[in-house]
Amino acid sequence: MPISGKQLIAGKWLEGRSGTFNGVNPATGEDLEPQFTCADEFQVAEAVSAASECFTAFANTTPQQRADFLNACADEIMALGDELLERVSAETGYPRGRAEGERGRTCGQLRLFADWIVDGEYLDARIDTAMPERQPLPRPDLRSFNQALGPVAVFGASNFPLAFSVAGGDTAAAFAAGCPVIVKGHNSHPGTSELVAQAIDKAVQKCGLPGGVFSLIMGAGKTVGAALVQAPGIKAVGFTGSTAGGTALFKLANERPEPIPVFAEMGSINPVVLLPEALKNSAESIAAGFVGSLTLGTGQFCVNPGLVLAVEGDGLEQFIAATGEALAKVGAGVMLNKNTRQGYQSGVAKLRDQAGVEQVAAGEAAGEDGGFTCQAGLLTVCAKDFLANRELQEEVFGPMSLVVKCRDRAELLQAIQSLQGQLTGTLQCSESELASYGDLVELLRQRVGRIVVNGFPTGVEVCHSMMHGGPFPAATDARFTSVGTMSIARFVRPICFQNYPQSLLPDALKDSNPLEIPRLVNGEKSRAAL
Ligand code: NAP
Repeated sequence: MPISGKQLIAGKWLEGRSGTFNGVNPATGEDLEPQFTCADEFQVAEAVSAASECFTAFANTTPQQRADFLNACADEIMALGDELLERVSAETGYPRGRAEGERGRTCGQLRLFADWIVDGEYLDARIDTAMPERQPLPRPDLRSFNQALGPVAVFGASNFPLAFSVAGGDTAAAFAAGCPVIVKGHNSHPGTSELVAQAIDKAVQKCGLPGGVFSLIMGAGKTVGAALVQAPGIKAVGFTGSTAGGTALFKLANERPEPIPVFAEMGSINPVVLLPEALKNSAESIAAGFVGSLTLGTGQFCVNPGLVLAVEGDGLEQFIAATGEALAKVGAGVMLNKNTRQGYQSGVAKLRDQAGVEQVAAGEAAGEDGGFTCQAGLLTVCAKDFLANRELQEEVFGPMSLVVKCRDRAELLQAIQSLQGQLTGTLQCSESELASYGDLVELLRQRVGRIVVNGFPTGVEVCHSMMHGGPFPAATDARFTSVGTMSIARFVRPICFQNYPQSLLPDALKDSNPLEIPRLVNGEKSRAAL
């Protein structure tokens, strides 16, 4: 089906009733066809009501049925072929290789969840059998497991049109848990969003699921998005995007008569700490890796290394000089949209205006030809000025980083202590330095979701042990990840059954263990029937 510009509401493609907009090609600044329509509040309510109606049926499907559905979503996304890849490139300016890579990651995470839920570990089934003879009081039969939370609203980010969007990590985790999903599509890639929604729609039909399991609505965040988060039927929100957007939705969700959790993964400046021995031995190779990470995807990654911390000296000067040389060869990259480029330019200008900040390197100047291009760069500041100015910790989304020059180890520790929550913290160091800087590592651990040693923060593996989140403001809840199989924990909740009749218990808790899942039975891990 060609891109229609319509909403998908519970299996029906409908014209939105609240205005229109077009996607824009960021390489040229030109509008893309077709025009998209925006949902109104009644259409949002329709999608939520359909999701609520089918929640019980979907939540009670077996893990195998949901695995089949997740795999069908991946199959249908692949079946979109070149049309999808071309639309991603047209709407984001990403080269085909990046679009292909992100499609692989998106389908990979759908399939990873499919494999993983069948094993049943995530259900965390626990059984404590009755002890009628126990003195002084008998123990009842108690059984618990993780059940689906309810319909989930998903907001994707502009910079991941596939992997953090319509069928991205949040949607995959919610489907895996048994939660219907309503996505508020990102206006920066509406055609990509619709194509992926078409694929999910086909998978829903193929698997014989009710249409309410998935809806895609388009429109402005402040109207359509807000209405979605406020709808009583929505029980959780998955968000990837800016700190401003995530915190606004968090506030809205907490002001509801029934507050709901908002799992927002937001911006971060991802400090990279360069320790003296590493700088002495490999300043130039660290600079080469750093520039690669800083300019990857035109710096439009939430894990972009926006801050470098080190003790001043020859090693640091060598790193800055080598970074400058490499940056001078970096072309002006295309940014995702007009707002992102505007945000980058004003963010850089604001940083440059702060006391003590100096620009020491720059890439090729941005073009004037209508495309949304930008110039990469490197700034420096001394730790004293950094410590006195919280504004230097604001994320500037794009290929710009700030080097903080510390007088000594104590000042380096102070600078790290001043940092707010981050998705990642990176250490370039020798193994002996890692051991002897235990105090520094401890400070970093308290502030980040992932510690990277002798690498760079870009490149977030989708796997079982990934933690992509962190203390506020990196995320609204540091206990959860938005990437990898652990992210399913956001969309389930434990329920306990006391003295419940055997035949009516959920399969996960029956004595016979028909799902053959691992369970904690009277404190012992086992897959055996009771
Ligand atoms: P964004 O502007 O926050 O938009 C994300 C989505 O939220 C959009 O659909 C947007 O709709 C909606 N939204 C924003 N503000 C809202 C509000 N006040 N009320 C209701 N809905 C609202 O973010 P973006 O431009 O897509 O992405 C760039 C940012 O994402 C960067 O800061 C980056 O660091 C961060 N990011 C984080 C991660 C992560 O995993 N932590 C990953 C990728 C990107 P409208 O556009 O219609 O307002």
